[in-house]
Amino acid sequence: MVPGKREFLARALKITGALAALERAGDRRPGLVVFTFHRVVEPPLNPFYDRVVSATPASFRSRIDWIKTRFNLPTLHQILDQIETNRPWTKPTALVTFDDGTRDNFTTAAPILAERGIPAVFFIPTLYLESPRLPWWDKAAYMIKQSRASRLAITRPDQATFMVNLETMPRDHAVQTVLEPFLDQSIDTIETCLRDLRRQTQVSVDDGALGRELFMTWDQARELIGGSSQFAIGSHGHSHPRLADLSASDQWRELAESRRILEQRLARQVTVLAYPFGGSRDYTEETKAIAADVGYRAAFCSTEGINHPAATDRFALRRFNCGQGDSVTLLRARITSRDLWESSGTKR
Ligand SMILES: [Zn+2]
Repeated sequence: MVPGKREFLARALKITGALAALERAGDRRPGLVVFTFHRVVEPPLNPFYDRVVSATPASFRSRIDWIKTRFNLPTLHQILDQIETNRPWTKPTALVTFDDGTRDNFTTAAPILAERGIPAVFFIPTLYLESPRLPWWDKAAYMIKQSRASRLAITRPDQATFMVNLETMPRDHAVQTVLEPFLDQSIDTIETCLRDLRRQTQVSVDDGALGRELFMTWDQARELIGGSSQFAIGSHGHSHPRLADLSASDQWRELAESRRILEQRLARQVTVLAYPFGGSRDYTEETKAIAADVGYRAAFCSTEGINHPAATDRFALRRFNCGQGDSVTLLRARITSRDLWESSGTKR
């Protein structure tokens, strides 16, 4: 694979030794780095949306091995205690998290973490375990990947139409091309897009059966946290909505209902939340206040950053999202450049 520009720069930094030197400088004011993973699968085996695949099992192993050598890795409870008492981190510290509660987290990622004794938190959107179904992006990707149609005429949300030639365009590329204009749209617009795709692709989706295949079961979730305090489960909302689009009472329902279901199903206290999507436009100050009122001790977002005690917002803990194309070198460069940016006082 030809490395991208960012990867190329990251490799250059590594070769010159600059990356290691910058890391050592950053270690003088250590913080908490939180990593986000989604699915860990072999992409050719993935019948759904490839953008939510974070790693193959092999690349996951190599990132985890690096995380283990680079960071101190306390459990979630130790981290929460430390944040709540505002104590500074004495060493570079990290937490591994997973969003969405897919089955591969249980079958593939958890055994790799367990073998190495690495703590992790799994954020679950409870509706998808209560009554399994596919998220809309996976449903759309599934239809496009299975279709025998030769082309699709897609009407964008702004009503402009474009053609996707399924005979010449690789399917993963076609999926991305079709989905891109809809990623930040309302659920009504997305429903229209799905109906249109269903008609054009001629693929029927057994939502329940595919959803059961995609997500972990409650038995698996219980087994995950059963034996030790190494793994914890948190809420990822009930129906994985964009919370910022909801009224205060609907947000309350999403956050309280998912917590209630998790605590009932797992017979454990659930203390943390990851906002679905997690970008700065996906939750609001009101969301943060509701999360605190509902009883969460902390909430994670998806804005990149290192959590330093003085600047830590307990209801917007920052995370680094790990995508398929992110090598260990690129992750190191992203973290280091974020650290430099923050310590230069030009924090966003
Ligand atoms: Zn999610």
